[in-house]
Amino acid sequence: MSYITIKGLHKKFGETTVLTEIDMQINKGEFITLLGPSGCGKSTILRILAGLTESSAGTIQIDGKNMLGVEPKERQVGMVFQSYALFPNMTVYENVAFGLRMQKVAPAELDERVQEMLAIVRLTEKANFYPKELSGGQQQRVALARAVIVRPKVLLLDEPLSALDAQIRKKLQVDLRNIQQQLGMTMILVTHDQEEAMAISDRIFVMNNGMIEQSGAPTEIYTSPKSEFVANFIGHYN
Ligand code: ADP
Ligand code: MG
Repeated sequence: MSYITIKGLHKKFGETTVLTEIDMQINKGEFITLLGPSGCGKSTILRILAGLTESSAGTIQIDGKNMLGVEPKERQVGMVFQSYALFPNMTVYENVAFGLRMQKVAPAELDERVQEMLAIVRLTEKANFYPKELSGGQQQRVALARAVIVRPKVLLLDEPLSALDAQIRKKLQVDLRNIQQQLGMTMILVTHDQEEAMAISDRIFVMNNGMIEQSGAPTEIYTSPKSEFVANFIGHYN
């Protein structure tokens, strides 16, 4: 049984259709990538999943629960964006602890979970630093830890690595994949970088112009593209 089921999703902004007949089935613990050119509707899908944008038609189920009318806070969906909105006046430790404090987790358990998460993202020695004292890659690891620590059912990542330089981006791809596998967490990553999608995903959904052109494992998409668009997009290294 699929863990996340999207059926017949449509989205219009005014007269403009930006998503047409999106169907997706995602298993628990999968690392999914939405890959496609700028403007094809990737972020809109994430925003609808998170409850930040309403769909025009279609249904979404997460873990057997229909998401229609469910408030963003009640969805147990986490998000990480390209610009890491860390709390600048809080230490790394307090940034990571934030979600647990909101949930009123008891101090001993909170400390244990924060320490464990800092170790996972390799920031134990930076616990008492402030965001401005960290590199971009380190800040993005804090953002990841902060989102993951509350154990969302699914973590949505919207081009989280795009602002980083190529070398750091490659390292963080490995980090992200390791964290995902260590926690067995379901993640959906949005990117326009086909190399990133190939490196990191269990399955890729290739999008074009508000539609899914093809889905499958990276090797399947690479070796058997179903359309000229997919062949060209996958073959094109940025
Ligand atoms: P991507 O993330 O793939 O770059 P988006 O999902 O951000 O694409 O956008 C898909 C299309 O929807 C684009 O043409 C964009 O201009 C349009 N769009 C996104 N958000 C809005 C909005 N709030 N109002 C009007 N049009 C929007
Ligand atoms: Mg986008």
